[in-house]
Amino acid sequence: MTARTFIRCGRLFDGVSGRSEPDQTLVLYEDTIDWVGPSSAAPPAAAGDIQLDYGSRFVMPGMVDCHAHISYGNALSQEDIDLYATMEFRTLRSMVAAQAILKSGFTSIMDPACSGLIAPAVRDAVNVGLVQGPRITASGRALTTQQGLYDWYPSWVGVPEPSTGVMTGSMDEAIRIIRQQAKDGVDAIKLTMDGIHARRGGGGLIAAYTQAETHTMVDEIHRLGKLAVVHARGREGALYAARAGVDVIFHASNICDDGIQAVLDHGGCLCPSLALLVNNIEFNEPTDPSAPWWPDIQRRELEAASRNLRRAREAGVTFISGSEAGFAVTPYGEWGAKELEAHVKYVGFTPAEALCCATVTSTRLLRERDRLGGLVPGKLADIVVVDGDPLADITVLQRREAIHAVLLGGKPVDLTPAPTHARHFSEFSQGMWRRIYDRDHVRAHFEKA
Ligand SMILES: [Zn+2]
Repeated sequence: MTARTFIRCGRLFDGVSGRSEPDQTLVLYEDTIDWVGPSSAAPPAAAGDIQLDYGSRFVMPGMVDCHAHISYGNALSQEDIDLYATMEFRTLRSMVAAQAILKSGFTSIMDPACSGLIAPAVRDAVNVGLVQGPRITASGRALTTQQGLYDWYPSWVGVPEPSTGVMTGSMDEAIRIIRQQAKDGVDAIKLTMDGIHARRGGGGLIAAYTQAETHTMVDEIHRLGKLAVVHARGREGALYAARAGVDVIFHASNICDDGIQAVLDHGGCLCPSLALLVNNIEFNEPTDPSAPWWPDIQRRELEAASRNLRRAREAGVTFISGSEAGFAVTPYGEWGAKELEAHVKYVGFTPAEALCCATVTSTRLLRERDRLGGLVPGKLADIVVVDGDPLADITVLQRREAIHAVLLGGKPVDLTPAPTHARHFSEFSQGMWRRIYDRDHVRAHFEKA
């Protein structure tokens, strides 16, 4: 008979009830929770059963980061994401990125846009046991237009092959790419519903696709049994996506009341991904090429997001949690739990609600959604053991030393930190000089010397 695992919990937060209970015991059989209840009523352990004593600690379900780009490489710029590193190096690096996220207490992730088929490949490597990593729900390259993300470069360059986006020149082309991605084994297909193009004189971001085009693509994605996930920061893109019945809208910072109603009508959800905005504001330094205009834009978006997302929440919209890991301001395994703090600070969640959202609600779109969903009998034993009480201080989850143990399907994860900056030497954008060496500057320099 396979040994069971008995876990004594100082406090247990199952992610479903919204409360933590003292002196509880979890009994695992293989990778699944078999029994949970007061320690005084626990079944007796047999010889050979494994005993884990977390009697002074807070035990909760593994967290989910629904917005983690494992192929981005903690990028300093869009060029870093799109151009320099080989696909092969990106793939190896993405495995380490996924592990860094797992070690920080996130036992599942969704990657909504990667280079090539890197996220599905890392997902498969984890699932066949080649490497340890979080459970991964994966997309491929995000579909875009000239008004969406990823078409950053002049039109004579276009969207390069390793980009995490792919240009759709027509609806025929979009449908062909959707069918190919479905064949290639993605779980989700991402549409970028807007980018950085705004209408002059107000009106916000221009949607990258028309309402009719959005319907056409979302219907085809759903016909093929895949999730339709979208990026939309603007009002128009979020509204079109919501009306087309997408499964999740990332950001939705400027969603309007019609958009909120459409999300409710079609059973979609929102993933605010505020950690990136917040870190862009808090971490930007005067020497960054983006100072000060970028943090200013982010500050305005955060204000709008806080206003509109609170309204969505009050209207009864479902939220999931994702940090947008993968940029230099959101490195893997560092700030994932900051999204929970942002839900409390900017969207009006209580710490318990933010914790339920990040551990249970956020499993609703995952591949393993039927087997995940809190620390209750029958569910997979994805568990985080915390030194401290996240219900009293949600920021405790951001402290590496507070993550005492992580169990994935009942198996302990090695928490030795993964390297933060696994970068290829050629990967930095080819910015070699920060100033112009005109005659005056050069003369002044040599005269000083
Ligand atoms: Zn993203």
